[in-house]
Amino acid sequence: MTLLLTAFMVAAAGCSSGGDSAGGSTGTGTEEQAAGGTETPKIGVAIYKFDDTFMTGVRNAMTAAAEGKATLDIVDSQNAQPTQNEKVDLFVSKKYSAMAVNPVDRTAAGVIIDKAKAASIPVVFLNREPVAEDMNKWDKVYYVGAKAEESGTISGQLIVDYWKAHPEADKNGDGKLQYVMLKGEPGHQDAELRTKYSVQAIQDAGIEVEALAEDTAMWDRVKGQEKMQAFLASHGDKIEAVLANNDDMALGAIEALKAAGYFKDGKAMPVVGVDATAPAIQALQDGTMLGTVLNDAKNQGAATVALATAHSLRVRRQRRKIRVMTLRMANMSGSPIRKLRKTTLPTPNNSREGRPSYRWRPFFWAYGREEPTWHHLICWRWTGFRRVSRVCRHLVR
Ligand code: BGC
Ligand code: CA
Repeated sequence: MTLLLTAFMVAAAGCSSGGDSAGGSTGTGTEEQAAGGTETPKIGVAIYKFDDTFMTGVRNAMTAAAEGKATLDIVDSQNAQPTQNEKVDLFVSKKYSAMAVNPVDRTAAGVIIDKAKAASIPVVFLNREPVAEDMNKWDKVYYVGAKAEESGTISGQLIVDYWKAHPEADKNGDGKLQYVMLKGEPGHQDAELRTKYSVQAIQDAGIEVEALAEDTAMWDRVKGQEKMQAFLASHGDKIEAVLANNDDMALGAIEALKAAGYFKDGKAMPVVGVDATAPAIQALQDGTMLGTVLNDAKNQGAATVALATAHSLRVRRQRRKIRVMTLRMANMSGSPIRKLRKTTLPTPNNSREGRPSYRWRPFFWAYGREEPTWHHLICWRWTGFRRVSRVCRHLVR
């Protein structure tokens, strides 16, 4: 799936397909490109902090996708906006052909866009969505990330399915779902919208809810564990479900629950997260995590590199190819989707009797405003995500 998608995207951009290596930060130009007289674009990449499980996945995916197409200079902003601004200044002074920025503070994007615009360097934001006002500042500004609302809705639906299949989940028998919420960083669109839409999905299924507690654990596993300990200390067995905005916090909560005697001797607790990181998939298999929602690190990384690379090529001939990429991506809501839908990625754990039992579907979107409104929309999102999670849950039974 990923391969096919990547191949599709890079074919549209007129480049060669990316490799699968992780780690380092460089890619080199191919001879073909050299012969065509095009320099390998240099792209400055500023990640909000390296010490983030999900962003590490995106970072590795970017490195893999850049191989043979672009040279990436990936830097750690260490969770400090002033540090990130300095990195951006450095990219500008090095005259890089494009930048990819994962803002520390998404409301600080405006300053970065001003710098980029003044230097005429296209900028692709990722994972932390700038506000519309900032996106509208310049036409060479893009954003790649997941639809936060949808990740929230799907995680809520996982709880709904569990609640309906397990009448004993209503521990106090009052017909209401008493839950606790572990939020990501306040102000992050993924934290705010996943929180809102996960609860909304439960209510939309006709289930009354009662929030026992809600607190931020800043996307962090250790903080997730600490907050869950505190929730357990004040609400104990009254808690009937744990919703976490990401997998790391869900995994932290699971640690706290384990210490409180859960997940053995029939003591159950539905815990859901978002991301589908490797440790989360492991927890699904261990039977501790109920479900997660794929946040497609691999394709978000690849899309970021594709956009940054395509829009950094200065040669005219290349520009025409960029247009092609734009148009073909815009076409993704037509026939190519049907083609992609049939694609599956069987792995040892999700394939039964040789048949792939679920489909990974790329889940990201990107937009800029070179064309009016949504022309740049790359949007593959349909209900199949639920199926990913359902099957993952099925594995733990
Ligand atoms: C992910 C989190 C991650 C955050 C970083 C979110 O989309 O789900 O795991 O910590 O982005 O900005
Ligand atoms: Ca109840």
